[in-house]
Amino acid sequence: MALSPQPLTASVLALLVLTAGQHASQPASALNVTFLGTGVPIPSPTRFGPSSLVRGANATILIDCGSGVTQRLAALGLTGAQVNALFLTHLHADHVVDIFQLLVTGWGARRDRPLPIYGPVGTRAFLEGQMHAWQPEFDHRIDYAGDARDALALDLNVTEFGNGSIGAFYGLEVTAIEVDHRPLVPAYGFLVQGEGQRVVFSGDTRPTAAITTAAKGADLLVHEVVIPAALPRWPSEAAERIAAWHTRSDEVGKIAHEAGVGCLALNHIAPPNADRGSLLLDVAADYGGPVVVAEDLWTVDVSRGWLTVAGGGVLALGRG
Ligand SMILES: [Zn+2]
Ligand SMILES: [Zn+2]
Repeated sequence: MALSPQPLTASVLALLVLTAGQHASQPASALNVTFLGTGVPIPSPTRFGPSSLVRGANATILIDCGSGVTQRLAALGLTGAQVNALFLTHLHADHVVDIFQLLVTGWGARRDRPLPIYGPVGTRAFLEGQMHAWQPEFDHRIDYAGDARDALALDLNVTEFGNGSIGAFYGLEVTAIEVDHRPLVPAYGFLVQGEGQRVVFSGDTRPTAAITTAAKGADLLVHEVVIPAALPRWPSEAAERIAAWHTRSDEVGKIAHEAGVGCLALNHIAPPNADRGSLLLDVAADYGGPVVVAEDLWTVDVSRGWLTVAGGGVLALGRG
C-alpha cells in the first residue's frame, strides 16, 4: 500500500526542499535509517509497530520487530531473507510481536540460514517458547512445501547481550546502552557506528544519562517520545504512570541539545495521532537543530544529511 505523503510543514523543522517526486541516488558508502514503524501499542493505520531499518554499504539490520514490519519491508522491495541481523531493545510486545512473521516469511522467501537475533537476557527463552508454540505449524509447512535446507531459516540463532559493545556486523558496529524503562529490566538503546557516521537509538526509556552520553556529537539521535496529555482512554493517573517510563515531548529536546546531535528524529510516538506541530514546538523550546517527526517509510540518509519522505520528496536537513 502506498502511503500518502504526510504534511511536511507540520512534520519537519529547518528543512530545505531540494527535489520532489524523485529518488536521490545514494552514495556508495551511505548510512541510512528507514523508519518502518513509528508507532506504539495503540493500533494506527499510519504508524505501524516500532521497527527501524539501518542500511550501510553491506549491512541491512533491523532494530526491533513491531507489528507490520514485513509489510513495510515489502514496500521497500525487501523480505526477511535480506535482513542480516535483528537487534531487540527490550521484550515489550510492541517491539517483538512480529518476529515469527519475519522468520516465517523469510523462510518463504528462500532464506537459507538462521536469522541472527540479538536481544537482552530473556530473549532466548522468550523465542524458544514462541517457536515451540508454532512447531506444529513449522512441521506442517516443511513437510508440505519445504525441504531440509529451507528448514534452516526457521532455526533460532539468539545471542543475549549486556551493556556495551555487541560487535561488528557487515561494517556496522553496534553497542548496547542500558536505559531506564523500569519496571521493565533490562532495556537498551543502541549506538550504531559505520560509514563514518554515528546514530543512537534510545529504545523505550525515560530520560537517561547514558543515552545523552552516547549521543554526544552523534549525527542522528532517534528518540522515543510521549505526549501524556494526548494519551487516550486511560484515567489521568494511568496515563501519567505510562508516561513516566517514557520521555515526554518537553524533555526530549533537552537531551538533543545537551548531546549536541546533528539531527533529532522523534519515533515511537505516543499517541500515534499526536499533533505534529505541537510536538515540534515542545522540542524547539530546547533544541535548535533539525527535528524530524518520523513517519513510516521515511528515510534519513545520515551520510548526506537528507530526508526522503513517502512519495519521493527529498529534503536537506540543516545540521544542528
Ligand atoms: Zn514500546
Ligand atoms: Zn517498552
